[in-house]
Amino acid sequence: MSEDVFKKIVSHCKEYGFVFQSSEIYDGLSAVYDYGQMGVELKNNIKKYWWDSMVLLNENVVGIDSAIFMHPTIWKASGHVDAFNDPLIDNKDSKKRYRADVLIEDYLAKIDDKINKEVEKAAKRFGESFDEAMYRQTNPRVLENQKKRDEVHARFAKALNDTNLEELRQIILDCEIADPISGTRNWTEVRQFNLMFATEMGSTADGAMKVYLRPETAQGIFVNFLNVQKTGRMKIPFGIAQIGKAFRNEIVARQFIFRMREFEQMEMQFFVRPGEELDWFAKWKEVRMKWHQALGFGSQKYRFHDHDKLAHYANAATDIEFEMPFGFKEVEGIHSRTDFDLSSHEKYSGKKLQYFDPELNKSYTPYVIETSIGVDRMFLSVLSAAYAEEVLEDGETRVVLRLPSALAPIKLGVLPLVKKDGLPEKAREIIDALKFDFKCQYDEKDSIGKRYRRQDAIGTPYCVTVDHQSLEDNTVTIRYRDSMEQERVAIDKLSDIISDKVSMKNLLKTIGS
Ligand code: ATP
Repeated sequence: MSEDVFKKIVSHCKEYGFVFQSSEIYDGLSAVYDYGQMGVELKNNIKKYWWDSMVLLNENVVGIDSAIFMHPTIWKASGHVDAFNDPLIDNKDSKKRYRADVLIEDYLAKIDDKINKEVEKAAKRFGESFDEAMYRQTNPRVLENQKKRDEVHARFAKALNDTNLEELRQIILDCEIADPISGTRNWTEVRQFNLMFATEMGSTADGAMKVYLRPETAQGIFVNFLNVQKTGRMKIPFGIAQIGKAFRNEIVARQFIFRMREFEQMEMQFFVRPGEELDWFAKWKEVRMKWHQALGFGSQKYRFHDHDKLAHYANAATDIEFEMPFGFKEVEGIHSRTDFDLSSHEKYSGKKLQYFDPELNKSYTPYVIETSIGVDRMFLSVLSAAYAEEVLEDGETRVVLRLPSALAPIKLGVLPLVKKDGLPEKAREIIDALKFDFKCQYDEKDSIGKRYRRQDAIGTPYCVTVDHQSLEDNTVTIRYRDSMEQERVAIDKLSDIISDKVSMKNLLKTIGS
């Protein structure tokens, strides 16, 4: 896939009511987006898939919904006031701003690409007898690139860990990284930039308080840890899940809904006994990967990426990356956060946040495993994987979203062959009977072929056409999105044929058994 496909996906999102630029009639607001009539359905289905997988499939995971505004000291305690920074760098010619770390990561990814291409070429040349490991260990060009990569990578990891901004700049200069827009290497210094949005609460007369828009939902869970544990009589190990908006004043915001300034997160904090956290970390890695793969896009589209720089709170961290049209990118983070957050809130609030473990007969501060996924990035990954352009037998092309049925915004398109002779009424009857089970859409405009195309473009897995025969024998033609096959079925069988296939339940069963 390429940037070209990415552009098509972005315009498809707009054309079919999935995603609009925010404030479009005022020329937009950068890195802020609105979800349209199709987008909101897909987004809600993604959220439901996540929520149910957490709170239905795990007896010991419960949900909350905490406020976006929180006491400002929370962000001191969490480390966000002092350390939630990105290193930024400007190109003096294009006047564009970049994240210094991202420039270097992209450079490393390019070397990886080069190496992989070399290996692929050789694999083709040598055919069956190709020994990839041997080739990687001996081919001079591969070795040279690998050495260069390892050196830069080591310097980069160290610079990040030491927060050494000069060294980050030096790496950019030494690697001769150029601005993709101006093509020049005329860089400013690297500076730290705090990503939190601040505003004021209360009128100035009573002394306004500086508050932040939360940059993550997790802290709302930590500060409610004891409330939930006590009122829910929860026993460790247990988890608290939350879905909600988060805000970050991102420096670089040029990748559609991949990096937004207002976005939504689905986070789960799992509280465990100290010392058991790495086992739980491994367990949640597996559970979360299974959740992604159950969507059926193919396991080669996902990979784990362990962090080079552990956040100040973590003792293990990995990302689940998905192959977006612009390369493998983080969709979800899984972090072993130790007891950092609860201990820190204890310190700053002066309130005890400990758990009495009846089995061990002692109190302790629990350790935490976090799974944190962005709804919008998940949305983008689903759309990228589902989007397909196909050339049909008659030479026409169709654009189809091969969405998993449980996530599709509309499950059934109901199409009367003509707008008269009682066919629209019959179609409405079908919708009235099925609307309690799943979302249907009525469409009577244009030819049947065009209507099928419109449903394909929004990912509707099933369409039925109501014709004159339907009035006589109560049957319709059902048409399947992926195979485009059609067959005649009884109207009163529709619920049986479709309900099961589009239900969230069946998707959940594939991961929850
Ligand atoms: P990145 O390195 O891409 O900035 P991050 O490591 O800061 O991301 P986390 O703090 O781990 O991200 O946040 C958890 C998840 O929230 C991410 O995996 C991503 O899906 C989502 N997320 C984070 N920032 C954004 C954003 N600006 N826009 C959309 N989603 C985001």
